Amino acid sequence: GIVVTGATGALGRLVIEELLTRTAPAGIVGLARAPARAVDLEARGVGIRTVDYGRPDTLEDVFAAGDRVLLISGNEAGQRVTQHRAVIDAAREAGVALLAYTSVLGGPTATFTLAEEHLATEQALLASGVPYCLLRNGWYHENYTGALATTLKNGAVFGCAGQGRVATAARRDYAEAAAVVLTGTGHENTVYELSGDTAWSMAEYAAAVSRQTGRRIPYRDLPQKEYVARMIESGMPALGARMAAEADAGIARGELAATPGDLSRLIGRPTTPIAEAIAEALARLA
Ligand code: NDP
Repeated sequence: GIVVTGATGALGRLVIEELLTRTAPAGIVGLARAPARAVDLEARGVGIRTVDYGRPDTLEDVFAAGDRVLLISGNEAGQRVTQHRAVIDAAREAGVALLAYTSVLGGPTATFTLAEEHLATEQALLASGVPYCLLRNGWYHENYTGALATTLKNGAVFGCAGQGRVATAARRDYAEAAAVVLTGTGHENTVYELSGDTAWSMAEYAAAVSRQTGRRIPYRDLPQKEYVARMIESGMPALGARMAAEADAGIARGELAATPGDLSRLIGRPTTPIAEAIAEALARLA
């Protein structure tokens, strides 16, 4: 069957939606930390198993020989290499046919802190001998459009990405690519550099928000330290703020700008334009 970790997460839910359009629910298993949040999926016929990456015993019998697995990177920064290794070990012992992993666009060319755990996971996966597929995901539109309420309140887009460009795509686009790989053939031992068809700068993003709201929303580039302080002041945990600012500095260096077209090729259509994501987010706020 097909096994998706992080089934109750934002990406995991979208992957399962995409899988359900391509294959029967009985062939899909979702792994969840809190199965109570997966009852809707279960009601639709998707199998749900309870796991915690931090407790390897919970991973012992969730995979079977021949399974095609999507390991969605976890969200507990600092613990993820150990956690992902536990999943890879369990998948190897079961003899799965494919283990796809959501890594970071550019792989080793991404030098910001958030990329480190992805690279260590890629290395563990390659060393495991399990047939792999690296889904090196670029940034989500939603990293930006999810903050639109705050952007409008501030009257500006803040960041430390300078003139750097970022080739974002909708979370749903990445989910569709994962579903294509999990239900298709010939993806063993491949690396996909997944990103939006178009890379944009923060100034262009601010201009698009301005156009759609009829307000003047400029991009204000801050020194990295000031940007971190600003995020912490507005309630973000310090570690998360530091990592976000380091990723922005990576964008300034051009590390999340690549547009090789792997994503649109896999999903067989252009990626969702950022303007469309802005419009959807504004409609939800209205
Ligand atoms: P979410 O935070 O919504 O999903 C993360 C999933 O991982 C959740 O389902 C979570 O479970 C699960 N998880 C975390 N820790 C454990 C654990 N110890 N045991 C079992 N499950 C665990 O993020 P998204 O779905 O939006 O994104 C997927 C991943 O992509 C993120 O985790 C992160 O690594 C990365 N990411 C990428 C971004 C990008 O722009 N490309 C932006 C943000 C994140 P639960 O549902 O119980 O919380």
